[in-house]
Amino acid sequence: MADVIDGKAFAATVREKVASHVARLKAKGITPGLAVILVGEDPASEVYVRNKGRQTLEVGMNSFEHKLPANTPREVLLALIDKLNNDPAVHGILCQFPVPDHLDEAEIIAAIAPEKDVDGLHVINAGLLATGQKGLVSCTPLGCLMLLRDRLGSLSGLNAVVVGRSNLVGKPLAQLLLRDSCTVTIAHSRTREIEALCKRADILVAAVGRAEMINADWIKPGATVIDVGINRIAAPERGEGRMRLVGDVDYASAAKVAGAITPVPGGVGPMTIACLLANTVTAASRVNGLEEPTGITA
Ligand code: NDP
Repeated sequence: MADVIDGKAFAATVREKVASHVARLKAKGITPGLAVILVGEDPASEVYVRNKGRQTLEVGMNSFEHKLPANTPREVLLALIDKLNNDPAVHGILCQFPVPDHLDEAEIIAAIAPEKDVDGLHVINAGLLATGQKGLVSCTPLGCLMLLRDRLGSLSGLNAVVVGRSNLVGKPLAQLLLRDSCTVTIAHSRTREIEALCKRADILVAAVGRAEMINADWIKPGATVIDVGINRIAAPERGEGRMRLVGDVDYASAAKVAGAITPVPGGVGPMTIACLLANTVTAASRVNGLEEPTGITA
């Protein structure tokens, strides 16, 4: 059976590193601050934002929450982002997506100052990553990279297949793996013979959004499998109308073949918020010209 990669435990060690670096910055009179903007009342987003705020405070940083009504005009949101861009107490800015339909996600991302873009989505940060330069890296890919380095040490020369090509997960993670000298293939919905392709991977990452799509037949014996997917499916065994979370990988069968695998929940998920905190303390260090934290950057 595969070893379980415990993202929950690893995320706790990342938060400890963040907290100790925050303490060092505070000793120099700087308290890192993270501003989170939530537009509308999506219940799932409200839970995420609450968790982010709580964990931000727990590591000793300032948390600034901006809850705006669903009908907030574009100009009002952009003015708030501009204000936060110019606020020296704010080192990281994140707008919780999805936003209501009248707002444009690309425009919102472009409005955030790249050095405060702790989600790593701004084209400047995407471009810095693609050209091997120092920027801010999307939180989920950064979390996956940390788990892989912790498990495998050097990734150099390994065959990595990333299933999914989103700007949020698949593309930045492929760039990170390339930077760590993996031989990277990105698969997507049009990829031919995807199962055979995946079966050649030493590192297989699933970032698709399709419940349990990848099973043991897709996995090379001993491979390291990172399951980014979060899918809610019916769980009649838990009672009528009950749901449960599963990944993009059929865990029960995959764990019989893989060398190591992340569970869902408790794998990549907890790493995402931990890396958001890591990016915020990194951003605060950089903007003040101070030493960066070690072990929690790309
Ligand atoms: P997107 O929907 O943006 O991208 C999904 C990708 O999967 C696309 O590139 C798509 O290909 C590809 N795809 C879809 N169907 C298939 C298929 N049958 N075979 C191969 N590839 C396919 O999703 P995200 O990248 O934003 O998220 C992916 C998953 O990760 C979701 O379950 C999401 O909930 C989860 N997630 C988890 C996070 C965490 O913290 N753990 C954070 C972010 C996301 P194409 O481009 O051709 O359409």
